[in-house]
Parts: sequence; C-alpha cells; structure tokens
Amino acid sequence: MDYVTLNDGNQMPQLGFGVFQVPDFNQAEQAVSDALEVGYRLIDTAAAYGNEAAVGNAIKKSGVNREEVFVTSKLWVDHFTYEKAKQGIDDSLTKLGLDYLDLYLLHQPYGDTAGAWRALEEAQQAGKIKSIGVSNFAPDQLMNLELMSHTKPAVNQIEVSPWYQEDTVVKFNQQQAIQTEAWAPFAEGKHDIFTNETIAQIGQKYGKSNGQVILRWLLQRGIVAIPKSIHKARMAENLAVFDFNLSADDMAAMNELDKNESQFFDHHDPAAIESIFGSSLRALKE
Ligand code: NAP
Repeated sequence: MDYVTLNDGNQMPQLGFGVFQVPDFNQAEQAVSDALEVGYRLIDTAAAYGNEAAVGNAIKKSGVNREEVFVTSKLWVDHFTYEKAKQGIDDSLTKLGLDYLDLYLLHQPYGDTAGAWRALEEAQQAGKIKSIGVSNFAPDQLMNLELMSHTKPAVNQIEVSPWYQEDTVVKFNQQQAIQTEAWAPFAEGKHDIFTNETIAQIGQKYGKSNGQVILRWLLQRGIVAIPKSIHKARMAENLAVFDFNLSADDMAAMNELDKNESQFFDHHDPAAIESIFGSSLRALKE
C-alpha cells in the first residue's frame, strides 16, 4: 500500500474502500470485514450512508489495530450549522464506536458550510478528528471556505473516473496542497466501463483488468481512490494495483476517454441542488 502525506502532516492510504449504497447492517459489516481481511486500510463511510454502526462493528471485530485503519466519515447537509455540526460529529463517533476519526468531510458544498467547518476545526483541535476536509467542492467554493476559515481542507473528495476526469479541479486542489480523492472511480459501471475496449487493450499489456487499469491511472495522477464492491474477489482485484506502472502513452490514452460530464448530477445545476438538498436545507431555517 502506498501512502500520501496530507497538508496537516497526517498519512493517508492511497487506495481505500467505499461503502455507499450498502445500507443493510449485516452486508455492510461483512463487506468491511472482508475488505480489512484482504488488506484495505482506508474505509470511507458517511452519516448519509446509514452504515456507520456496521462499519464500526467490523473494524472492532477485525482485530486490526485501530491506528492502522484510516476511517473517513462525512457530515450531511442537514447538520450544516455550527451547533448541529458539533452534534453530527459526536453522532458519527458514537455510531462508529470510535474515539477519533481519521478524516471527516463536509459532504456537500451547500448550506452554512462556514459554520459547519468551524465545528470541524474545533473537533480537530479537541482530538476528535485527525484531518478535516470537504467533498464535491469546486475551486471557487474551496477558495471561499479558505478565505472564511483558519484551516485549509486536507482533502477534497470529488467524482473522478475515466468518463469525468476533472482535470481543472484536480490541478487546483494540487496547487492548494489539497489531496484529491476520487469517488465512483468506476462511474458505478456506467457506459460498460468494465468491458470498454480501449481500457481492455491497455490492460492486456499488463495482464490487468479494466478496474485495475482505472485505479492505476488514478494513482499515477496522484489521486486517492475508494472503489466499492461487496464481492471479496473484486475487493482483492481492486487492491492488486501496486505491481505495475502505466506507460506515458497509456496514461495519455486514458486521458482521451474523458466525456467531461458528471455521470451522476451536475453540482452547479440549481434544479438538482433544489431537488436533492432543498428539503434538508429548508428545515434548517425552521
Ligand atoms: P464505484 O466504486 O465507481 O463502483 C461500484 C460498482 O462497481 C459496484 O456496482 C460494484 O459492484 C462494481 N465493481 C467494483 N469493483 C468491480 C470489479 N473489479 N469488477 C466489476 N465490477 C466491480 O461507485 P461508488 O460506490 O459510488 O463509489 C465508491 C465510493 O465513493 C462509495 O462507496 C463512497 O464511499 C464514495 N462516494 C462518495 C460520494 C460523495 O459525494 N462524496 C458519492 C458517491 C460515492 P459489486 O459491489 O456488486 O461488486
């Protein structure tokens, strides 16, 4: 496993395991147990995924030392005020059964992010969170947060896959010494990513699958990736990406695949913001 050093000096595994869309307790617990067994040391959950308790159980039962596992969770927008964020952080810790988180993220760039961020900064000072970061922040939103606060985010977790390469945001993060972390590195399988001919041809040269080529391409761009699978064999497959290097030509061929469009939703579309976050944010005004 390779590690990256964050702007606060903490170390983060460059490859981790995500548990979005695994709401069933037993399935989430089993998935995290399997992931730890095959060698993952970064687990990515969120308050909104509804599986923090299962993740915490699996970590406790695994026998792996707490200090060896990098645990990430995220605060949802329904807690984006200073006071509610303090409660949300404690709720995540309680559900996970942990006395500290390695990384805690503001899950989305909407609502009172400055107030919520202040609560994260205080929790970091109190030792409840080692590193604090954000998710789905565009460069202008990152700059706004930086200007309004005392602590630069350590991480910006964004959608990055061959279909949506986000070069501008990745470069901006880099300039700001903010680590980019890719969610949905496989675009959740969209556009037949696991059988795409271009990726398969690259993979044949190295004896690697499409998934492995995609993860290697991300690692070589300096990005942390957190693929999800509930199948143990795929977990192991996705972890076996530290024994080869894509050539400059193959990296360039991967870069050509960019569709330059989110595979999920446009974070700048007012209608999408209203439909996904509207009710949570309106409730905070009441
Ligand atoms: P993903 O990792 O791009 O794709 C997961 C899908 O790929 C699953 O259907 C999985 O199927 C399949 N898969 C995984 N490895 C495979 C392999 N080697 N061969 C064939 N199929 C494979 O999607 P994601 O779960 O949305 O993203 C990963 C993580 O990012 C999440 O779990 C979550 O932690 C994080 N995330 C964050 C945000 C955010 O807003 N911050 C948003 C979305 C996701 P099986 O499970 O059936 O194997």
